Amino acid sequence: MTPFEQVRSHIRTAADALGLSKEEKAVFETPQASIEKELSITKTDGTTETLQAYRVQFNNARGPYKGGIRFHPKADIEEVKGLAAAMAVKCSVVGIPFGGAKGGVVIDPKKYDAHEIELVSRAYARAFAPHIGVDIDIPAPDVYTTPQVMAHILDEYEKVVGHSEPGVVTGKPLSLGGSAGRDIATAQGGVFVLEELIRAKGMSSKDTRIAVQGFGNAGATMAELLYDAGFTIIAVSDSQYTVYSEKGLNPHDIARAKKEGTSVASLFEKDTTAMQEGQVALLSPEAVLSLDTDILIPAALDNQIHADNVDSVSARIILELANNPITPEADAALNARDVLVIPDVLANAGGVTVSYLEWVQNRQGFYFSHEEVMTRLRGIITSAYGAVRMMAEKEGCSQREAAYRIGVLRIHEAMKARGRYS
Ligand code: NAD
Repeated sequence: MTPFEQVRSHIRTAADALGLSKEEKAVFETPQASIEKELSITKTDGTTETLQAYRVQFNNARGPYKGGIRFHPKADIEEVKGLAAAMAVKCSVVGIPFGGAKGGVVIDPKKYDAHEIELVSRAYARAFAPHIGVDIDIPAPDVYTTPQVMAHILDEYEKVVGHSEPGVVTGKPLSLGGSAGRDIATAQGGVFVLEELIRAKGMSSKDTRIAVQGFGNAGATMAELLYDAGFTIIAVSDSQYTVYSEKGLNPHDIARAKKEGTSVASLFEKDTTAMQEGQVALLSPEAVLSLDTDILIPAALDNQIHADNVDSVSARIILELANNPITPEADAALNARDVLVIPDVLANAGGVTVSYLEWVQNRQGFYFSHEEVMTRLRGIITSAYGAVRMMAEKEGCSQREAAYRIGVLRIHEAMKARGRYS
């Protein structure tokens, strides 16, 4: 299944349960706009290059389109469509007044220097300037795009339109109107959800063992915040290793080592005593998924838990910090085993929620403290999680189905109120 087919299958299940008509359902199968452009840049060595770029605007019934831009060699229109559809549902589930969009550039950013990345970002802003805007479509960072990329897009866009418009992109540096707390927002939203969950289940954070797949922006921050909140992090992984300790790891040490360019392996090889006593083990990257743990947090890539490995997953709770980490087949198998899956459209919505708060601050020209942002984030995420849990319990469905039903219903109601079906 393509990423778009995956998200569409979740939307279809929700639309069927809500009793939408065939015509109404068709709306959720087609993006409102799918724009393709070619970006030309002159590289540092003097050669010119043309790159394929996309912006898919899925639905704007609830507010301006909103979604990140990814720079990736495998970015393609089907993937961007799927992510744009999921963004529309995500914004709707957490009740923020945005629609859904996503952008992409087909590029391997590791092969380009900082100046060339700036040229690509500025070319993207010029090409898509007629289609974005603070009340039209608001891009943000995604895979391999950074606050610095957003700064270049903002600067170029403002040159094109001839006025200041800081709210046209979110995830900007603080110096250009970025929000306090945006850097940890995705992970912090996931932490707020888990805190609610363990409170409801009467679990203690210290006795809750957690394994995190992926040690990038989302995964490393999540592991650090959970460690600070008193949870026991038994494993973290990246593309090379799973680091495992039954007694628990300090993810801050691992993050520091990675920042200093020390490999995770050498960090622990030095600590031979720990290795000998079997306290810390270096396992394969895939091993993180099948460890005996209470909670598993996929925070790396899509389709990590699939039909061939789902039987080896022993966690009873999975929080999807990555987008689409579980295939629909594996999702059905986990449901059948009563494994609680907290879906990506809720679990990783902290990022877009603080993007919304950034947009609000830019529009009013009045800025919130870190504490104010976190209080608002907690309020928005925990109330959305409460609604999803209640719907799942009432309807006897999975939390994914509940989240999609809530998200699709709100978009549907906005579509109806606008008369867009007639
Ligand atoms: P990132 O590139 O910073 O990190 C990805 C991590 O995954 C890296 O540590 C990489 O080593 C690891 N990885 C790659 N292959 C792996 C493998 N086979 N096994 C284990 N780990 C592997 O990306 P990110 O921003 O942290 O995003 C991760 C996921 O979270 C993506 O699905 C993204 O769409 C989603 N997400 C991120 C944000 C955000 O704010 N960063 C917001 C919403 C959703």
